[in-house]
Amino acid sequence: MKVLLLGAGGFIGVNLAERLLADGIHETVAIDIQEEKISEISHNSALKYLHLDISKDEAEVDKLVAESDVVVDLVAFANPSLYVEDPVGVYDLNFTQNLKVVDQCRRHKKRLIQFSTCEVYGITAAKAFGLDSRDHPIPFIEDETPLIMGPVKNHRWIYACAKQLLERVLHAYGIRDDFHYSIIRPFNFIGPRIDYLPSEAGGGNPRVFSHFMNALLYGTPMKLVDGGRNYRAYTYIDDAVDCMVRIIDNPNNICDKQIYNIGTPENETTIAEFARLMKQIFDEEFKQPGDPDPQIISVSAEEFYGKGYEDCDRRIPNVDKARSHLNWRSKHDLRSTIYHTMKYFVNKHRVKQTAKTA
Ligand code: UDP
Repeated sequence: MKVLLLGAGGFIGVNLAERLLADGIHETVAIDIQEEKISEISHNSALKYLHLDISKDEAEVDKLVAESDVVVDLVAFANPSLYVEDPVGVYDLNFTQNLKVVDQCRRHKKRLIQFSTCEVYGITAAKAFGLDSRDHPIPFIEDETPLIMGPVKNHRWIYACAKQLLERVLHAYGIRDDFHYSIIRPFNFIGPRIDYLPSEAGGGNPRVFSHFMNALLYGTPMKLVDGGRNYRAYTYIDDAVDCMVRIIDNPNNICDKQIYNIGTPENETTIAEFARLMKQIFDEEFKQPGDPDPQIISVSAEEFYGKGYEDCDRRIPNVDKARSHLNWRSKHDLRSTIYHTMKYFVNKHRVKQTAKTA
């Protein structure tokens, strides 16, 4: 099959491209506007990478869609601090520009695998009814769970709403035109190449793993937003990619018009516990003499993100569908997920530190 990866230069895209190239089964064309991460796999001569922007290079992208068998759309701004800083930009890229890809796939009758987000589930029903979600560990099920967003004034929800509307448009085209699509809702993937550390040039305000990793390497405080009471369930990127490959393969067309949660319910943790575990693993496996001993402190959400942030209190994936359709389940527990991700960043940054002191 010819697989066209849009947004192949991001964390998920590079890891997926690397796996597709290693498998060597499908011909893969990768496009993005950022080269830094994908350059890590450019030694593979089978990589066909093109510097193209889905919002500007429509004619070129259209041609590539026409020549492909399946399109995987990973193009997104997917970082909570950006939802707060640039809600209009988030809407434009995640809905308007992505809709153009949907239209191209419809016109050329190509199957589309659209990356969505677990954020479409929003907050838990427990929180919406004023209950404590700690007492209500209720998993999110793709075709059953209602999607509950916070008020408009909390503009972080624009990301979830843009993704949700895109999902609903795909569903509608599926009904009306028999359009073939699959939707993926990722639940907190981590692994090599996630984000950048805040201390790196252009590192910005990344997701939590990178903040805590930065703290362990450079001594900045580990900040627990609102005490780190909220929950996330982390999935190691290789496990997630393994599920994505099965969705691309689409045995007996089972994935057509389906939504899949990809996640690891067993790896659920509070962010406070995540910080503690990261520190413990770092100390046991990677710490060297002279390394800092970061403080763990609590900050308010407004202090950390600014106005307009509201947290998702708890997101437990139900992955029965991926299990029954694709015989998939993730293999890495939380410790191994953190360890392998940490190893990548420790190696990368120790090399930088050595180069600096040489
Ligand atoms: N968070 C934190 N400290 C940080 C960054 C994030 O406590 O330095 C919290 C954040 O408020 C949320 C969780 O960690 O509860 C996960 O946030 P992240 O930015 O990683 O992405 P999300 O899972 O919300 O998409």
